[in-house]
Amino acid sequence: MRKRYTITLLPGDGIGPEIMAVAVEVLKAVAKKCDLEFEFQEGLIGGAAIDATGNPLPEETVEMCRKSDAVLLAAIGGYKWDSLPREKRPETGLLGIRAALGLFANLRPATVFPQLIDASPLKREVVEGVDIMVVRELTGGIYFGQPKGIFTTETGEKRGVNTMAYTEAEIDRIAKVAFEIASKRRNKLCSVDKANVLDVSQLWRDRVTAMAEKYPQVELTHMYVDNAAMQLIRQPRQFDTIVTSNLFGDILSDEAAMLTGSIGMLPSASLGSHPPGLFEPVHGSAPDIAGQDKANPLAQVLSAAMMLRYGLQEETAASLIEQAVSTVLSQGYRTADIMSPGCRLVGCKQMGDALLQALS
Ligand code: NAD
Repeated sequence: MRKRYTITLLPGDGIGPEIMAVAVEVLKAVAKKCDLEFEFQEGLIGGAAIDATGNPLPEETVEMCRKSDAVLLAAIGGYKWDSLPREKRPETGLLGIRAALGLFANLRPATVFPQLIDASPLKREVVEGVDIMVVRELTGGIYFGQPKGIFTTETGEKRGVNTMAYTEAEIDRIAKVAFEIASKRRNKLCSVDKANVLDVSQLWRDRVTAMAEKYPQVELTHMYVDNAAMQLIRQPRQFDTIVTSNLFGDILSDEAAMLTGSIGMLPSASLGSHPPGLFEPVHGSAPDIAGQDKANPLAQVLSAAMMLRYGLQEETAASLIEQAVSTVLSQGYRTADIMSPGCRLVGCKQMGDALLQALS
């Protein structure tokens, strides 16, 4: 029987609608090939939602997302809304939907496409073949731990406090996600912590080690975060899947992303304990090029592939999309952000057409 999925689309602002349009056409094409049926519904978020309703995350959008099998988001934000108070800004909508869906695991792949290897700031021989997945804990750790705040001491001096805290349950659930993902990849998981200094990291290490017993096929290693930051630059190919806490993951996922050199190519996924997950490119709404048909839609399209793989367990459809991306790059199609000599400069729409051609 043909499988049916309801997908909420949140195009958002800036280049969002342009890149989303490409992703939707690609999803339709892949649905035909894989005998899937997608029912798309569109919701408001960010600046677009502020303009229409005064609220960056209308309740209707949250409800729509909750009732769907997966949520595909493009990007939010823009100059127009920059001077609004924080609770009314587009970013509040994004944080709100992540919280509303209970998304505690953030997946950030850093894949170096051979066709774009010269975009990396590192030498070819260092980055060739890099394919890393950073699994970052997203809702705990130092960004949320209590106590937090700026307090006044007895001597009248101010003291800023944040608390890095994790419960066993919080560590176990992110470790489980990471082991599952490592199992679908090359069965290698590196847990990054600072267990030589931090008690919270020691607990992290103990729980991740305990979880490893359930995944005997996965080779688990541990690394201190300072060393991991160095190793990512020195020898990035040694990593497959990395799992780490919120703060360390925030930094390491950006560092790993830079190995690839091109922000227009980076997808991400955020997962909770049940669907829907949220899938979105790493980049923002690029207001400087919005409406000019210059945006690179590939991060959005690769986010749709992540949605199929990690949100809907449709591995074949996900791989077909990734192969199509690889094909158009091999054929020399490039948007301006990844252009290099001898390649063919195309706009967002034309890149979409090339993808559809590759899929057919
Ligand atoms: P940005 O990622 O939007 O843009 C940075 C630079 O990269 C710009 O020069 C832009 O043109 C380019 N770029 C980004 N994506 C591209 C693509 N797909 N194709 C071609 N070029 C691309 O970051 P910014 O300029 O710091 O932020 C712009 C707005 O986006 C702000 O309002 C910010 O708050 C918002 N933002 C949203 C998200 C999100 O929705 N997740 C993330 C980051 C920033």
